[in-house]
Amino acid sequence: MLAVKGDTQVNEERYRGRLAPSPTGLLHLGHARTFWVAAERARQRNGTLILRNEDLDPQRSKPEFVEAMIEDLHWLGITWQEGPDCGGPYGPYSQSKRRQHYLSAWRSLRDAGLIYPCTCTRKDLAQAASAPNDLDDGPIYSGKCRSRTDARQFAEPAGVNWRFRVPDGEPISFIDRHLGPQEFLAGRDFGDFLVWRRDNVPSYQLAVVVDDAEMKITEVVRGADLLKSTARQLLLYRGPGWTAPDFYHCDLVRDESGTRLAKRCDALSIRALRAEGRSPQELIGSSPYI
Ligand SMILES: [Zn+2]
Repeated sequence: MLAVKGDTQVNEERYRGRLAPSPTGLLHLGHARTFWVAAERARQRNGTLILRNEDLDPQRSKPEFVEAMIEDLHWLGITWQEGPDCGGPYGPYSQSKRRQHYLSAWRSLRDAGLIYPCTCTRKDLAQAASAPNDLDDGPIYSGKCRSRTDARQFAEPAGVNWRFRVPDGEPISFIDRHLGPQEFLAGRDFGDFLVWRRDNVPSYQLAVVVDDAEMKITEVVRGADLLKSTARQLLLYRGPGWTAPDFYHCDLVRDESGTRLAKRCDALSIRALRAEGRSPQELIGSSPYI
């Protein structure tokens, strides 16, 4: 299908994938595998690959890690056509420069009544932790503030937490292109999740959905640790009526003892493995660590 956008024609069916590393540390072997799969899927489909710098958290993101990620990806032999280093039609490609986009999404969600201000303290949240514990993401939110109706009185999100009101009891299902059918139950597998933090930073969930929608991503390739996040994000897509991309979740890379590599990323950083004399092919293909 062809859509006219401005005075250029854009083929909406054309594959658009992305690599979305956070510059809060060095890329490790798990990233290398996932990014290689993402790059291959874009290449095989003659598509476009986007590099997005997920430097949303001003405290934890460091410019030196942005440089390191670009260098490590190049060393792996991965190339992209749009990104913070080369520009493109859907920039900026660094999340720290996309605040207006997230604020606009926050306003849409607020106006649609899908989010609410939450003033629970850390203590309130800890006390509510008798509710089933979601090991990946902390306790499921108790719902103490979910009946608040004063969202529209806020002109700006800053100062309180903002949560998405999930439809309790609704199964959220999708077909993962690698792992097959997936289903999560809203309110049981995850609760009302954050879309904006009281320190005035949008949540990962909100930023990723806004960026993937606006950058016209057609398939998201990422680690299987984010399967449940996908269920949350599908609810966010549905809110403003955005079209969700397809998802391809890669198996997590584990070491001999079954520990996820993300937990010990320093020893297995791409940089450290490269310094040991390992080749990109070794890291991407069969590896002694798998
Ligand atoms: Zn609350």
